[in-house]
Amino acid sequence: MCGIVAYVGGQQAAPLLVEGLGRLEYRGYDSTGLAVLTPSAAPKVVRTVGRVRDLKEALPKRFAGTIGIGHTRWATHGPATYANTHPHASASGRILVVHNGILDNAAALRQRLADDGVSLASDTDTEALAHLIERADGDTLEKKVLAALHQVTGTYAIAVLSADHPDRVIVARNGSPLVLGVGQREMFAASDVGALVRHTSQIVHLEDGEVATVTADGFLTFTLDAATVSKSPETIDLSPDELEIGGHSHFMHKEIWEQPETLERMLIGRLDERFATARLDGLRLEPRELRAFTRVKILGCGSAYYVGQVGASMIEDLARIPADAEAASEFRYRNPIVEPDTLYVAVSQSGETADTLFAVREIQRKGGRVIGLINVVGSSIARACDGGVYLHAGPEIAVASTKALTHMGVGFALLALMLGRVHDLSYADGARILAGLRRLPGQISEILAEEQAYALAARRLARASSMFFLGRVRGYPVAREGAQKLKEVSYLHAEAYQSSELKHGPLALISEDLPSVAVIPDDDLLDRNLGTVHEIQARRGPILAVTHPGVELPGSVEALVVPKNEPELDPILLTIPLQLLAYHAALALGHDIDRPRNLAKSVTVE
Ligand code: GLU
Repeated sequence: MCGIVAYVGGQQAAPLLVEGLGRLEYRGYDSTGLAVLTPSAAPKVVRTVGRVRDLKEALPKRFAGTIGIGHTRWATHGPATYANTHPHASASGRILVVHNGILDNAAALRQRLADDGVSLASDTDTEALAHLIERADGDTLEKKVLAALHQVTGTYAIAVLSADHPDRVIVARNGSPLVLGVGQREMFAASDVGALVRHTSQIVHLEDGEVATVTADGFLTFTLDAATVSKSPETIDLSPDELEIGGHSHFMHKEIWEQPETLERMLIGRLDERFATARLDGLRLEPRELRAFTRVKILGCGSAYYVGQVGASMIEDLARIPADAEAASEFRYRNPIVEPDTLYVAVSQSGETADTLFAVREIQRKGGRVIGLINVVGSSIARACDGGVYLHAGPEIAVASTKALTHMGVGFALLALMLGRVHDLSYADGARILAGLRRLPGQISEILAEEQAYALAARRLARASSMFFLGRVRGYPVAREGAQKLKEVSYLHAEAYQSSELKHGPLALISEDLPSVAVIPDDDLLDRNLGTVHEIQARRGPILAVTHPGVELPGSVEALVVPKNEPELDPILLTIPLQLLAYHAALALGHDIDRPRNLAKSVTVE
């Protein structure tokens, strides 16, 4: 959600900032701007309530400056207007600030500034910070920034430019992501490494409460109390090619198609044939410790929460210990009871989801043990957790998650298998799950090969303005994810229901205008699911079934057949067709698939 880039070095800053902002577009934003400096002239600022490409076009021909800051804004304080677009300037115009996050005491700060006679040019919390820095005591820019930060509460990642110190950018982080990139006589800062990998693989992660002075020659990190913190860069292993769209028309399509390959990669070294279990060294838990957990609680937001429900049933099925999933966004607000013998699992693609991060901190404060299922290496949640499983899905650019969710499902399968094998799961059952996991990539390829059939079905579905997604027990989180994906990218109304609940209310809505997408695996609940089909048909509701080979459905039901794996792993495969349906419905409706309206990729605000 929203983004920051900063540059200082020997090259012209503006084109680099624009390029970096382009790499952060997927995070979601509503307006964008940048500022550059030269040692002699006043700072130059360009802003636009539009896309990064509009910003690029708005750049004047002469826009020299080898130091600068850029921003994509996700409005929290004031609407997406030109006046509210970052960078924000102090009264003299000599201090410029970009900010991600929310300053909680913005109203009081703005009031105080207004009482002091400062005229505020925007509605934002951020602008207050620019004035506070300018008005702060201190003989260095660093001291002024620290003095200002001591007056604010809330979350932030900031980058500050001063016309009086044209050799440096000051950055700080508290609750919003920020990394530094170390180049040859040049330095970068950005909200995520995706904006930097073309320029450097040397990355420094800032922690909350840390501030850095960034110059062309390097960086100095310190705390809010000005105590020096020494940090050295880490080398990240991310190829710039992974961030290219290749021959695909959308990143979402690319990411759906990548799944067989990324899953193969994820499984390398994690399948322990000898003991028919999973190897998850990153958990940092001995079998004895694992066995001591009597309960598992999974926390995630949105799709990560739904896949958490899939994970909970895998754990209950394979390890026979109680497991459930809850929306992290709710958990953190309800004074949860944290138990020492519960294993908590935080799930997030970006590892920056603010609600999930706060849930992790809440659990840890109360003495609970949290592991992470996270895609982005070195992200805030990954670092906050006591261990975890990296998903290795590679960068996911499309806002609507596909491959990262599939990897989460497989991550849960590995965890469930490992927990199962230290409890009651037999060697034979462990081997059965391992064999199932090995079959998954090939089976996903088989589903993808049928893409045209899904495209046709999706086009028909896209004619309805509202629909149900139905599933039972293991199939229910699959239905929830299917409805969510469709809503996210096609903007059609879709509601997920447990098939079993249909006759307890929503059946009233079934008619020939309201299609249902029903998840019907060939498992021990098949008869019950077929009963649901008949209930819907009796009310003339159209049905699209995502099902397994050999399942006999009434002739009028349109069936999309996916290969069968083991019952515990089938939810992973049954989700793939729903990704394709959502993608193709959105394509048919002509939407901006990779950047759906109102949504951000990593939701770094509460
Ligand atoms: N709270 C700031 C604003 O509304 C920053 C929002 C952001 O993170 O982009 O301008």
